[in-house]
Amino acid sequence: MERQVKYLLPESEMPRHWYNVIADLPSPPPPPLHPGTGQPVGPDDLAPLFPGALIAQEVTGERHVAIPDEVLDVYRLWRPTPLLRARRLERDLGTPARIYYKYEGGSPAGSHKPNTAVPQAYYNAAEGVTKLTTETGAGQWGSALAFASAVFGLQLEVWMVRASYDQKPYRKLLMETYGATVHPSPSPVTNAGRAVLAAHPDSTGSLGIAISEAVEMAAADPDTRYSLGSVLNHVLMHQTIIGEEALKQLADAGDTPDVIVGCTGGGSNFGGLAFPFLREKLAGRINPVIRAVEPAACPSFTRGVYAYDFGDTAGMTPLLKMHTLGHEFIPDPIHAGGLRYHGMSPLLSHIYELGLIEAVAKPQSECFAAGLRFARTEGIVPAPEPTHAVAACIEEALRCKETGEEKVILTALCGHGLLDLTAYGDYMSGQMRDLQLSDKAIEEALAGLPAGV
Ligand SMILES: *Cc1c(COP(=O)(O)O)cnc(C)c1O
Repeated sequence: MERQVKYLLPESEMPRHWYNVIADLPSPPPPPLHPGTGQPVGPDDLAPLFPGALIAQEVTGERHVAIPDEVLDVYRLWRPTPLLRARRLERDLGTPARIYYKYEGGSPAGSHKPNTAVPQAYYNAAEGVTKLTTETGAGQWGSALAFASAVFGLQLEVWMVRASYDQKPYRKLLMETYGATVHPSPSPVTNAGRAVLAAHPDSTGSLGIAISEAVEMAAADPDTRYSLGSVLNHVLMHQTIIGEEALKQLADAGDTPDVIVGCTGGGSNFGGLAFPFLREKLAGRINPVIRAVEPAACPSFTRGVYAYDFGDTAGMTPLLKMHTLGHEFIPDPIHAGGLRYHGMSPLLSHIYELGLIEAVAKPQSECFAAGLRFARTEGIVPAPEPTHAVAACIEEALRCKETGEEKVILTALCGHGLLDLTAYGDYMSGQMRDLQLSDKAIEEALAGLPAGV
């Protein structure tokens, strides 16, 4: 009876709609503002960067948005994804808790990112766009969009954060294998990149700088659009397919979650898993604690402020009301490159302000210890980003061991770490250091917040 570890949905039960949590919130998130006028941005302001369909999804109040058949066809290459019960990890911890993980590492790019890359490429191609630009941190978003661009016949140029470009050569090769062009960021190709290089020739880069470069290139060419892999409302909405599937699978397992944890960079895998459960929570059907886990080196929820800030370093994007460390903040080059973003999704930031979710920060050595323990029990090597979620699962499960509570813990194992083994190597050879992030460094970056909003 107690044997089942894997919960699979048949293809026929794959969700046909994404879920828009805004429809069920007590209030909508504050709108993005135009930095020049201080007024909410309109569709015309965004048209140089995004296709109309995605702009519409960004602002829609509809509760459900139908997934186009062309997108469902591509999703079927790896979806529905399995929900697994981490029995061997539970046994190793000696916990009465039941730990479930939704595994997104089986996608072509090895993470949850293709869930949004595929529809973004589809809508761009459908509106006649021929080329996309984007940034990537660890390279997971770049490889996801490179795959999706290949499927829909788009060209792609990627600005990859220098620290990751040097640490993760295989991600660059994967993007090139799918046909993309990859620049290290900061690059000499753009005004934004040249400005950073002039001031800091050895800059290890940041997602904020890379976004400035990709946005600059897209804005300059009418046939090119920009694509963002996290943070925005439509991205989080595309990721809700994770939570919609998990909801059905956990019901198949006969359980309801007490604690939902996920790692947060810009918030898309966490929002994607959590929002359908948040809908059930708001409806009074379940009452899980929903906990975001961020890196101690880039703690936008736990040490940032809730304010209007730029999404990029050069200040070219609209102003977003979000938890931010300041757009000038450059985090230490931790291995979880996908979590090195100065801000947080405005939608998740708003939900955090409403008190519907909580957040914790973890140093990377605790996370890699958790990743190793997970690999040695469950077999899957987690990407550096979800080791943060695994560490929080283990912490919760060990608390249950103390109290004897049989909590049900749910997380997203949002990517595998097979292209991140250098990071595991650093950890195993004792070379990984947890640098303390000083209050002064945060204060200095926050001093650069835009004034008057
Ligand atoms: C990009 C990425 C993240 C961080 O982005 P979110 O939008 O917060 O999910 C986390 N994990 C993996 C595997 C990623 O590729």
